[in-house]
Amino acid sequence: MFNLVIFGPPGSGKGTQSENIINKYGLVHLSTGDLLRAEKNSGSELGNKIKELIDNGNLVPDSMVEEMVKKNVAKNKDAAGFIFDGFPRTTTQAAWLDNMLAEHGQSVTLMLALDVDDNELRTRILERGKVSGRADDQNVSIIDNRISVYHQQTQPVMDFYSAQGKFVSVDGIGSLDEVFSRISTAMDQSMLQCCSN
Ligand code: AMP
Repeated sequence: MFNLVIFGPPGSGKGTQSENIINKYGLVHLSTGDLLRAEKNSGSELGNKIKELIDNGNLVPDSMVEEMVKKNVAKNKDAAGFIFDGFPRTTTQAAWLDNMLAEHGQSVTLMLALDVDDNELRTRILERGKVSGRADDQNVSIIDNRISVYHQQTQPVMDFYSAQGKFVSVDGIGSLDEVFSRISTAMDQSMLQCCSN
């Protein structure tokens, strides 16, 4: 099993590149942003709480997100592996993920970070907002809050995986094909190390 954490700030291309990864490696995509937006759009009581947080660019409480991840991992028992996209976003979530995977006799294989500077992120997110319809993609102060939440709460997750020798960063600037080629090289190398015997 190959479990990939695709990592990076909002707008770094995690979702787009996840599609390429699924096509090439056949992993199950688990995006906490997509799962939370589905709950938000359901209009449930929980969905309304989530809406307030997402629309302001703040993180949803760890326990709420962890519950969703747990359910979706359990639903995909036969998966060849997962792409965790947008998760873990705090070191608490990262430690929880290690424990949850260990219960299934699994672990994170690789954490792959897409490196994109803040100015490029702002431009990309505003551009995406024209088509995504997402409130959090259309307002500059909310976008800036998301980027700052990333630096303060999420970036430390890199050190968590770095300490485990699982962290690789690739340049996230370039054409989709160029970035995917860098991702593939990193994944192929990691697969050789982890899964060749
Ligand atoms: P994303 O689509 O990954 O950019 O996520 C959109 C929003 O969903 C974020 O700005 C957060 O409000 C929320 N969210 C997504 N994943 C998580 C997570 N792992 N922990 C907490 N909040 C999350």
